[in-house]
Amino acid sequence: MAMASLQPFYNWSRDLKETDIKLPVLFIGHGSPMNGIQDNAFSRTWSKFGKEIPRPKAVLVVSAHWLTNGTHITAMAQPKTIHDFGGFPQALFDVQYPAKGHPELAKFTTSLITSTKVGLDHDWGLDHGTWTIVRHMYPNADIPVLQLSIDYNKPAQYHFELAKELYSLRSKGVLIIGSGNMVHNLSMVAWDKLNEPEYGYDWAVEMNELFKEKISNRDFKSLIDYEKLNSAAKLAIPSPDHYYPLLYASALQDSKDEISFFNDKAVGGSLTMTSVKWGV
Ligand code: ZN
Repeated sequence: MAMASLQPFYNWSRDLKETDIKLPVLFIGHGSPMNGIQDNAFSRTWSKFGKEIPRPKAVLVVSAHWLTNGTHITAMAQPKTIHDFGGFPQALFDVQYPAKGHPELAKFTTSLITSTKVGLDHDWGLDHGTWTIVRHMYPNADIPVLQLSIDYNKPAQYHFELAKELYSLRSKGVLIIGSGNMVHNLSMVAWDKLNEPEYGYDWAVEMNELFKEKISNRDFKSLIDYEKLNSAAKLAIPSPDHYYPLLYASALQDSKDEISFFNDKAVGGSLTMTSVKWGV
């Protein structure tokens, strides 16, 4: 009985050893849920990445929209599509992204994280922080997708350290994506300017440039202590939910990874879509 239940774990472990390509790690600014169904500059970049990046065996997303007590990983065979928003057109609620989960990989991932006990989750699914992006990257939904939650009781340093424990997955065919927004202040969005191609308040643009500088310099300490960066930090990150995914992705780089920015644009004044790729 014990042997039988462990079998999928062994299969996955053996499977993992066959990959010698190290996948890049991504931080993606997801912005409005509408990007999930729009063909625009942001979503076109996502679909381009889906074609350029070596095909992963699975995708693991740390989404700003799954905040929990403790850390959990989705472990169901068939995650549901979660429409966790309101006030959008029916077409957005109609989207289903039927990618499979990967229970064996979920179990394997919990074995990698020793700093805390990661729970196997059977209730969540794929929230819009995940599917609005991944459906553009992999429109056939033929790659398993998992989510790792963010323990919202824990500080920035904790998330950075925990993320490091996922590092080996990059060499095992798993594409890890942090999905949030670097600058994200919904209470200050200029709704009348949302359709302008690029509109950012001075402080949003200033913080965006500062984040890019710290990322380029691999200045992890400043990224972790973001509240001390300058007086605009509190405006850019009034709450850290959309920022923590950047820390997860940052922690998964190695010193040789090439760093490139994409979708580097402000929208609606107080959001930036700026995204980062580490590695090729
Ligand atoms: Zn969001």
